[in-house]
Amino acid sequence: VQAAFRSNLSYLLELIGSGKESLIFMKKRVRHLASQWLLATQSLAQKLKGRRRDQKQILIHIGFLTEESGDVFSPRVLKGGPLGEMVQWADILAALFVLGHSLKVTVSLKELQSNLGVPPGRGNCPLTVPLPFDLIYTDYHGLQQMKQHMGLSFKKYRCRVRVIDTFGTEPAYNLEEYATLHGYRTNWGYWNLNPKQFMTMFPHTPDNSFMGFVSEELNETERQFIKSNKASNMAVVYGKEASIWKVQGKEKFLAILNKYMEIHGTVYYETQRPPEVPAFVKNHGLLPQHEFQQLLRKAKLFIGFGFPYEGPAPLEAIANGCVFLQSRFNPPHSSLNHEFFRGKPTSREVSSQHPYVEDFIGKPHVWTVDYNNSEEFEAAIKTIMRSKVDPYVPYEYTCEGMLERIHAYIQHQDFCAGASPPLPVKPNGHAMPSSPSLFTLSPNATHLVWSYNASSTPHVWPPVSSMQVWVSEAGQACTETCQEHRLVCEPTFFEFLNKKDVFLQLRIACDSAESEMSHLYPALAENVQECYLQKEPLLYSCAGYSTKYRRLCPCRDYRKGQVALCRDCL
Ligand code: UDP
Repeated sequence: VQAAFRSNLSYLLELIGSGKESLIFMKKRVRHLASQWLLATQSLAQKLKGRRRDQKQILIHIGFLTEESGDVFSPRVLKGGPLGEMVQWADILAALFVLGHSLKVTVSLKELQSNLGVPPGRGNCPLTVPLPFDLIYTDYHGLQQMKQHMGLSFKKYRCRVRVIDTFGTEPAYNLEEYATLHGYRTNWGYWNLNPKQFMTMFPHTPDNSFMGFVSEELNETERQFIKSNKASNMAVVYGKEASIWKVQGKEKFLAILNKYMEIHGTVYYETQRPPEVPAFVKNHGLLPQHEFQQLLRKAKLFIGFGFPYEGPAPLEAIANGCVFLQSRFNPPHSSLNHEFFRGKPTSREVSSQHPYVEDFIGKPHVWTVDYNNSEEFEAAIKTIMRSKVDPYVPYEYTCEGMLERIHAYIQHQDFCAGASPPLPVKPNGHAMPSSPSLFTLSPNATHLVWSYNASSTPHVWPPVSSMQVWVSEAGQACTETCQEHRLVCEPTFFEFLNKKDVFLQLRIACDSAESEMSHLYPALAENVQECYLQKEPLLYSCAGYSTKYRRLCPCRDYRKGQVALCRDCL
């Protein structure tokens, strides 16, 4: 069946159901953004020019909202608890819906079971009926519930699952055998999924798929209104929980800020003013999302104290014409040195409160400074107050950008085609043996490019035409190597370069070429002229580095403002 774009969101509101504060929050958001979604749908439809799109049967099981996993979130919606996940789920639902797919939404174990076709009271019995869904979007909690209640068929159908995973899961933590042997401990289980099945809130690591969420775009009237109404001396502090005010050294930098600006907060409180928030701060209490955004429209500065990490609010602030000021973390925070990240399935180093806005947006919208350096901090405040900054939303965080990306994933990502990545396929459908002539060395002999005249081009997505192979420096991850060349690492392509021939083509002399399990391979150890190939496709990883190795890195191009998609990816 062809998917037809939808032009009305009211049926989605019914699908979401009611009864929980979290669901009410999500519905409000969908309603508020409805006109933006519909406009974006129209422009995507024009862009795709009637191209065939399959309609998928999709189950959306929001595990963290089920009573069975404690549902700690719903009661905190009105008390300053984290809202980022709900923002993202609301947007995923809206996007899947307007793209025209057929949706079922579940927020309890009972509904999950009945949708999976598990007979009541037979929790652990293997499913005998085929799974009635092409795709299942869930989270780590939901994954656990599905494993418990689908019995043997979980293994069979897990390739259809997509896991919404805020901070990301690196391959070394995903593969049970490897993680256990090498101490990649996580509190979230080892799922042996294709790492691209994990979908993140920001493009943290290209090993996962970037899902994201949306930030509201302003029309010309609103932009004009903002321009004339900005109070250049008004600052809003990032964070809804009083605990964020317990940050070390706050007296010093707050005193400086207070010299120049009127400081506003949106910290939740019950009856009394939270003692952590100083008296000179004008605290509004937790605001409904829409009112919070109105406050941002007046403010000049949105300032982070270091926590919460990587949420949606800084993007909203920038979209409403604020400058975001945040502290640099030196050394960076990670699961090795910070309680918050401990046990999360990633070693990613977080260089500031919000690395995405630091790296992808930057000045004049984003200032990342050392808060312990009073001069640097004060100079930033003064410059920000004088600066004129327009509202800005990166394309990948607009409704259209998110729709474009999800459309591409749904039509092209397939993790069910064989346990390991498929072999390159000839036009006649037969798998072809590895051939040494697939690459050519670039004119300056620095990297390999796909050889276009190779007689048979494999059918993979992203298309191989976007690939370049670079060798990392020792101690460098492929994520960085590709970035240095204004490319992005693409793990899907590792299979094409995990070959002895590729080392030869790069003019690398190998005394030996062992095939082993390591998330750093394929790689070479230069001093000993040893080359290493990857034995386990699930361990192909853009993240990960060691001073012992130079890694072979599959990079690809990307669209401006849409890092998830290569130029020919749509
Ligand atoms: N927000 C809100 N009221 C407020 C402050 C924030 O509704 O007073 C919303 C904000 O619009 C954002 C969401 O809370 O979309 C999540 O923000 P944050 O970046 O703090 O992420 P979290 O830590 O909650 O996941």
